[in-house]
Amino acid sequence: MTARRITDTVWAVGGADGPERTSAYDGTQYLLWDGADGLLIDVGTGLGSDAWLANVAEVCGDAAPFGAFVSHYHADHAGGAAAATRTGIDVYAGAATAAALAIGDEQATSLERARRAGVYPPDYRLTAAPEVRILPDSAALTIGSFAVTVLDAPGHCDGHLVFLVDHGGQRSLFSGDTLFAGGKVSIQAIPDCRLDLYSDTVRGLAELQADQLFPGHGAPVLSGASADIERAAESFRRLIPPPNLLTD
Ligand SMILES: [Zn+2]
Repeated sequence: MTARRITDTVWAVGGADGPERTSAYDGTQYLLWDGADGLLIDVGTGLGSDAWLANVAEVCGDAAPFGAFVSHYHADHAGGAAAATRTGIDVYAGAATAAALAIGDEQATSLERARRAGVYPPDYRLTAAPEVRILPDSAALTIGSFAVTVLDAPGHCDGHLVFLVDHGGQRSLFSGDTLFAGGKVSIQAIPDCRLDLYSDTVRGLAELQADQLFPGHGAPVLSGASADIERAAESFRRLIPPPNLLTD
């Protein structure tokens, strides 16, 4: 494994494919790094934590990022929280996500349902991570040279956060499972996937005029990302769910 540099300041340090591959079950784990400080976004399932940590060290050396922000409580993005806190990484998540991770709640996070559907190995479990810190939505932070805004983005699941990062005149949206290249969304038959809230979220994100989109799965969009986001928003405005990332 090896970290994959995507832009001057963004690396993929974990995921299901590519040189950064950590586990077949992981969402994409990003590292923002300006050479001195930065931020991790999403922590994978935990199945590939050692590889993830090695990839982070490959970029950061002896320096350490501020911490890891978790977009939402699905295991492919959040299951590695316990492994991360165990190694001394401060992990931050929204209140609903932190509460579910604290007790390894496999109902709230739909892990039990997803495991029965074959999305995860039969013996995979969500390890409780009681040390996850709560990140308020609408929080604005300066981390190194990055201006980071935390935004509430329910729809794909409850408690979903996205992270808007302004750096060097570029505005980047780290969208978790909310939005993907081409204006796709991620709609699943789970209790807390809420299309009305999804519509509100995406239409709000379309107003942010993001240049770049770094989704939790698949290819990033490195310029003109607002057009991708607008495509999804326009579909929702017509009450039609946008194309789903998840297909048979
Ligand atoms: Zn998800």
